[in-house]
Amino acid sequence: MEKPKIDYYVWADKVADQLREKNTKKHVLHGMWTPSGYFHIGNSRVELMIPHFVQRSLENIGIKSEQNFIVDDFDDFDKIPEGLHIKKEKFEHYLGKPLREVPSPVEGHDSWADFFKNDIISAMEKFGINPSIKSSYESYKKGLYDKAIKIVLENSQKVVQIWNDIAKGSKQESQIPVMPLCENCGKSSTTEAVSWDGRELEYSCTSHRKYAKGCGHKGKLKPGNGNVKLPWRLHWPATWFIYSTTFETAGKDHFAAGGSVDTGRAFAKDIFEIEPPMQIPSEFLLVDNKKLSGSAGDVISLNNWLEFAEPELLKFMMIFYQPQTVIDFDLHSNKFLLLADRYDEAEKVYYGNENKDEKREEQLKKYYAYSQVKGLQEKMPVQLNFSIAVMVVQVFPEQSLSELAEILSSKGWIHTKTLTHYNKEKLLRRLELAKNWLKKYAPDDVKFEVQHHAPKDIELSAKEKKALHTIANLLKEKDYDEKSLFNEFYNVSKELGLNPPDFFKAAYKVLLNKERGPKLAPFILTLGKEKVAKLFEEV
Ligand SMILES: [Zn+2]
Repeated sequence: MEKPKIDYYVWADKVADQLREKNTKKHVLHGMWTPSGYFHIGNSRVELMIPHFVQRSLENIGIKSEQNFIVDDFDDFDKIPEGLHIKKEKFEHYLGKPLREVPSPVEGHDSWADFFKNDIISAMEKFGINPSIKSSYESYKKGLYDKAIKIVLENSQKVVQIWNDIAKGSKQESQIPVMPLCENCGKSSTTEAVSWDGRELEYSCTSHRKYAKGCGHKGKLKPGNGNVKLPWRLHWPATWFIYSTTFETAGKDHFAAGGSVDTGRAFAKDIFEIEPPMQIPSEFLLVDNKKLSGSAGDVISLNNWLEFAEPELLKFMMIFYQPQTVIDFDLHSNKFLLLADRYDEAEKVYYGNENKDEKREEQLKKYYAYSQVKGLQEKMPVQLNFSIAVMVVQVFPEQSLSELAEILSSKGWIHTKTLTHYNKEKLLRRLELAKNWLKKYAPDDVKFEVQHHAPKDIELSAKEKKALHTIANLLKEKDYDEKSLFNEFYNVSKELGLNPPDFFKAAYKVLLNKERGPKLAPFILTLGKEKVAKLFEEV
């Protein structure tokens, strides 16, 4: 009988269910990354977040698992990235050495690899993601890869055959596909294994790379404890072999025909004799229409993200989109504010304060739950819309965050008089993030400065002036909420035969010396009716 089709609400639950069918005692979920430059939010999707969500989902169905984050710090230092404010000459002669043996670009860290690794570790916890961190450099040195290297050496002809067949390579059959570390210069990409007698490996350091030259040394060594490395196409399946990896994702480029996924799976089965992990390709995350690169100067790391948004928002975005979907994100436009709005909406749905159709509700509830860092609160946390936060910090640029929180409460933007510790922190943090976003990313049409007087050179028609005076009088006489004030703009415009958009433009010109601004009704209520009436009367 065919299995009934299950309609999964969240992609991670589908993956977890597929893993359950494998009947493995304990699942091992992997992410892998080379610490040559910054770990950006695009890397975090593939190497941290996706395995994290799958782990959460496995946990929900009572299946044991662990998440490993493999730091490939034994990889070569092959490029000096831009944007680091370092003297490049100082690092040039380290090109070709393992990243773990290159000095840190910033003082206070043990190595180049450690500097970038420490940046992620300090952020991971703030995202509520705590994998075991495994240094490849240390694993090789401890001998963890010795068995895999021996298997490769004993099967080198077969390895080369598979490699040539799948990757359409042209390696000589006699080639020995391992990388001895030259005992003279410490490099491995410039060496060539010449012979293997079952005990000793003979090599010469005579190859040239774009970034490193062989030193000419010839020697013999007994493979073990990190004096031999595996090339990437073998290192990857060897890592599955060592850790019994059952799930992994990788950037979709690895999945190209003849690529490292194809060879890795073949080596796993035919050389290491293991079942390769379940793998799903993951799409790119574009920021401002560009693929992120760890070596670019304007990269967004996890710690950068925390300067202008909550960790929950990034997690929400990552669980919201299927791994196979390109995320086209943008920090300089409404896309960012929209993300914050979507998260707030999911929060309302989660706590039963907003209704959607059943499937959508279940989905949003799950997205929300998966995004949490500190666990779920009993009652719905206080919400401050990001756009309102952006407006408030600009209307009251001099006030402290605590003073702003009081203003928000007095203006009715938050509907609670006494804030719990959790809520107060949430509120103050959003205000601070809004300030930082304004400083660094916000587009010009979001930024404004409230005028102390109506601008001198302002040009308004008689009808526009009349409309502003009418609103000024009404503001002094009547009480409004957001909706009734908004309606009033239309009533007054209509009565005077004025196009409403022209009224709004006129109002923004007086208040901000700009033709556009935040939503006018809430803006006026935040600014204070008296102040606005006075400005409108000046024209
Ligand atoms: Zn050498």
